[in-house]
Amino acid sequence: MTQLNDFQLLVLEKETIQCSDVAELLGDYTDKELPPTLRARIDSHIHQCEHCQELERSYRLTVELAGQLNTNNPLPRGVQTRLRKALNEKLGLSLPLA
Ligand SMILES: [Zn+2]
Repeated sequence: MTQLNDFQLLVLEKETIQCSDVAELLGDYTDKELPPTLRARIDSHIHQCEHCQELERSYRLTVELAGQLNTNNPLPRGVQTRLRKALNEKLGLSLPLA
């Protein structure tokens, strides 16, 4: 059974969830670590919000790339940096650019 953290509880209690809530929980969402009730709420928000659909796509890409960066076949450095920069701007992350 997944233990809810404070933020997840807070979101669960809200009447309407916001894009910022989705952004905050996207990691757990993608890792399938959210309880079904909360997951369903995020699902339905993403379903009707283009911004969050884009966000989710970018996030999945980040996760995939993070996996690839650990292999012996990393992306060219310039590409990596450009991508990280774009993700930082889009998702409000702070991935190192070097
Ligand atoms: Zn949204």
